[in-house]
Amino acid sequence: MEDCLFCKIASGEIPSNKLWEDDDLLAFYDIDPQAPVHFLVIPKQHITSCGEIDGSNNAVIAKAFELISKLTKENGIESFRVVSNCGEDAGQSVPHLHFHVLAGRSLAWPPG
Ligand code: 5GP
Ligand code: ZN
Repeated sequence: MEDCLFCKIASGEIPSNKLWEDDDLLAFYDIDPQAPVHFLVIPKQHITSCGEIDGSNNAVIAKAFELISKLTKENGIESFRVVSNCGEDAGQSVPHLHFHVLAGRSLAWPPG
């Protein structure tokens, strides 16, 4: 989608610090990390948020969670949090679905 920051990162038009890339998914480090480990997993196809997941695109969501499992294992991360902010009030600032993966410190609950 034109003028979508994460579509541009997915296509390589805007550079990112990548951990993983395949035909469907990209994992890259957050530019403003909120924990010692903070990376994002995005589908390359534009999905606006978790609120837009349906039967036409749910396969890539399963793949995203499989990738999160693989990357955390490979990096020796045993305890981590997966977050997806959906909508402005929930703190979503980039309207392209992304899963934050946070680790490396004690994480408070409930979130603010
Ligand atoms: P949200 O606020 O939508 O839940 O998460 C968006 C995340 O994208 C934020 O944590 C923010 O730091 C990150 N972010 C915004 N712009 C860029 C960028 O250009 N590159 C990278 N690597 N992360 C970004
Ligand atoms: Zn997009």
